[in-house]
Amino acid sequence: MKDIREASFEELENFVVGCGEKKFRAKQIWDWLWKRGVASFQDMTNISAGFRETLAGNFTFHAAKVADEVVSGDKSVKFVIELHDGKAVEGVLIPQGDRVTACVSTQVGCPLNCAFCATGTMGFVRNLHYSEIVDEYLLLDRRAESIYGRKITNIVYMGMGEPLINVENTVKSVEMLTSQESFGLSPSRITISTAGVTNGIRTLADKDLRCGLAISLHSANPVVRREIMPVSKRNSLADLREALAYYHKKTGDRITVEYLLLSGVNDTEEDAEQLARFCRAFPVKINIIEYNPTENSSFIKSSVQDRERFINVLKRCNMVVNVRFSKGRDISAACGQLVKKRKD
Ligand code: SF4
Repeated sequence: MKDIREASFEELENFVVGCGEKKFRAKQIWDWLWKRGVASFQDMTNISAGFRETLAGNFTFHAAKVADEVVSGDKSVKFVIELHDGKAVEGVLIPQGDRVTACVSTQVGCPLNCAFCATGTMGFVRNLHYSEIVDEYLLLDRRAESIYGRKITNIVYMGMGEPLINVENTVKSVEMLTSQESFGLSPSRITISTAGVTNGIRTLADKDLRCGLAISLHSANPVVRREIMPVSKRNSLADLREALAYYHKKTGDRITVEYLLLSGVNDTEEDAEQLARFCRAFPVKINIIEYNPTENSSFIKSSVQDRERFINVLKRCNMVVNVRFSKGRDISAACGQLVKKRKD
C-alpha cells in the first residue's frame, strides 16, 4: 500500500471523489498531513470515523517517532528518530539566545566516508523520503516547545547523510516546509549543507528555493581534500568552484564555507591563503569550526595559536570569518559526531 504522504493532492482528490465523498475532503486531509503535521489517520478529527477507516484500508501512514533523547550540559538535545522500517537517524536541537536550531538528517548513514566524521563509518543504508525529513522537523519542533518553551527558528540540513545525494527528497522537503500551502516557514531560516556534490549544487541553484547553502570545504588543497573527503575524487575542487560560482550567479546569495581545523592537516598559513584564493570566485562567509574528536579518529584539533594565525591570514585577504564552537560535544551531537550506535 502507498504511504498517504506520497500521494499528490490530485491523487487524494481522485481517491476521495471515487469513494463518493465531497471534493473538499481532500483539502481537509491535505491540511492534516501538511499543515497540522498529524502522525495517524485517527488524528484527523474532522473526518468521519468511517472514512478514516477507508483511508487506513487504502493507504499506510509512515510516521516517524522519537525513540530516545539525550540532553547535553549546554542544553542542546540529541534525538534518535525511529523510522517506519525500524531504521533510525539522529536529529539535534541547539538553543542559542532567541534561536532554536534543528539539525536534521537526510540519509540513514552516509556513503561519503569523510575521514573526520563518525556517520561515514556507518556506511550508507538508505535515503530518507521527504515526508521523513519533514517528520524530523515536526517531532523536533514539538520537543523544542516542551523543552525550551519556543518553536524551532532555524533548520540546518547537517545531520546524517549528504543532502545533495538525496537531492530530490531534500528539495521536496524544503518545498513542503516553506510552501504557504503547508508549513509556511521562511526559506531564509533553512540552510542546506553539502560536502561538495557539484551536480546537486547546480540542481539547487536551478530550483531557486531561497534557502542558504553551506559547503563543508575543509581544505582548498586538492591533494589534502581528496584524502580527507573522498567525495572530492569525483567532484574536483575546480568543478566545485565552478558549481558554487554558478549557484551564486543564479541566486545572488552569499555562500557559507565551513572549515574544520585539523592540526597538521589543513591549518597552515599556506592553507589559509589557498582557501582565500578558492573563495574569490563568489562572496562567502567562512566558519572556522573546532574539531570534535570521534571514536577511531586520529585527528586532533588545531592549537589556539595556529587557529589565530590561520584566521589572521584570511582577514588580511578580506574574508569574512567567524569561529564556531560546536554544541552538544558531551553527547556526541556536535558536527561530525552523529552515528547511530544501537543496532537496527
Ligand atoms: S561529514 Fe557529512 S558527508 Fe561526510 S561522511 Fe559525515 S555525514 Fe557524510
